[in-house]
Amino acid sequence: MPIQSVNPANGNVLRSFAPLSEDALLRKITLAQTAFAGYADVPLSHRALCMRKLAYLLEHETADLASLITAEMGKPTTQARAEIIKCASVCRYYADHAARILAPEPVDMGSSDACVRWDPLGIVLAVMPWNFPFWQVFRFLAPALMAGNVGLLKHASNVPQCGLAIEALVRRAGFPRGTFQTLLIEASQVESVLADERIAAVTLTGSEAAGRAIAAQAGWLIKKSVLELGGSDPFIVMPSADLDAAVDNAVRARCLNTGQSCIAAKRFLIADSIYDAFEARFVAGMDAMKIGDPTLESTEIGPLATAAQAEQLHAQVQTAIHAGARLLTGGHRMIGDGNYYEPTVLVGVPRDSTVYREEIFGPVAMLFRVRDIGEAIAVANDTPFGLGASVWTRDYSEQRRFAAGLQSGSVFFNAPVASDPRLPFGGVKHSGYGRELSAAGMREFLNAKTVVIAEAAQVHTPEAIQHNTKESPAADSVEHRPLLFRDFLENQIKHEK
Ligand code: NAP
Repeated sequence: MPIQSVNPANGNVLRSFAPLSEDALLRKITLAQTAFAGYADVPLSHRALCMRKLAYLLEHETADLASLITAEMGKPTTQARAEIIKCASVCRYYADHAARILAPEPVDMGSSDACVRWDPLGIVLAVMPWNFPFWQVFRFLAPALMAGNVGLLKHASNVPQCGLAIEALVRRAGFPRGTFQTLLIEASQVESVLADERIAAVTLTGSEAAGRAIAAQAGWLIKKSVLELGGSDPFIVMPSADLDAAVDNAVRARCLNTGQSCIAAKRFLIADSIYDAFEARFVAGMDAMKIGDPTLESTEIGPLATAAQAEQLHAQVQTAIHAGARLLTGGHRMIGDGNYYEPTVLVGVPRDSTVYREEIFGPVAMLFRVRDIGEAIAVANDTPFGLGASVWTRDYSEQRRFAAGLQSGSVFFNAPVASDPRLPFGGVKHSGYGRELSAAGMREFLNAKTVVIAEAAQVHTPEAIQHNTKESPAADSVEHRPLLFRDFLENQIKHEK
């Protein structure tokens, strides 16, 4: 794919970039390596200061940054602003919590003392998608930079200006030169970057195909990888649910970001007794969504990010219909220059059809009727993916069964699935492995280094034994006693602060 900003609302080419040459790429990796070496000496308190400045810049330049998102990938402006504000929140979260998460953890070993240190790995390569062009990057960069790693970003080819804007913000926030760089490269160049021995690890958010390619390379190179891939999240509504709230949230959970979200609700599993009422209201809700110019405040659904995305979505709808599905509404690309697609509802998609097992990345919903909780869990799990699940029930015993039985990285009751800096985020099955956000996400790219210090008494020299006898006054005197583990730990904590 050429590295190019194309406005998806009208097809206009905004800017094009030549990919970095091999030499330029190597220079950037060298700069990252130098930055990593020096960054270890930057105290945590200073990193936190820069992180808070970054949050401040995001909050004070929200409108301009949001307009870049809207121009490059068509996100409606209100949602683009919300994305920028969310990035500020993840910066503040890690500025506030890094000292706690990174503090060495003492381990009681009886005769020896031990602790676990959390040490950075080095340069982490982040390969990122276009659908949340700021948020996906920030949820990687905030924990990585707070922990002392440095980042190289290969952003999706259709959002290069967002990638460059993020690099500039990090520099202006005061982070040392080279701690975070955007590489304007094509997907085919990722392999050589990853193979560079100075790159310690890789994180990819994107499609299954990209995940397989990167995980295979990382596995062969024996480098740590985290994969955040696609999803086909179930949205389950049981008879005890508040139907008004469930319908309203169902429509929003399918249409947020014009349906192009990994955790968008994609399959709607509705209990038999409320199915008809849900279906009628859901279709009315989809029909009422306001589609149009993403720069307008009133717009709820914008264009799809690329023409290829719109073509693929339409092909999936057609395949579903050929397999026996029925359209309740929508099903067409909209006439005009932009990549607009009608909000669409399908019923009767056969569970053995190809489309049923694929991720549908756009405002297209599939509805299913389920007999009871057993069938709801079985259908929900009948997918290669396992990212999130949203379940609407006020019955506590049902909540317990769903929480245990659903194969997914998260289960939200009576709320849509959402990412939050305080909660681990990630999937199981083909949705990937590893976690982002919270302490779990920060620790993915850290070395949990075990440190064991045997007590001085175990060094069986005559002097040591003598010094450690109760009778010896030197044993308790600060000047003469050997460095104890608690001193060591205190020093570590002081250093981290
Ligand atoms: P994509 O085509 O896989 O692209 C993602 C990134 O990977 C881009 O930077 C792309 O570069 C690069 N890439 C693609 N193929 C590659 C390869 N063989 N080797 C190295 N790099 C490669 O995905 P997308 O269409 O941008 O994003 C949509 C997908 O991301 C959906 O499946 C969505 O569910 C998933 N997603 C998951 C999460 C999550 O947290 N689980 C969050 C958001 C999105 P180019 O742009 O240059 O091709």
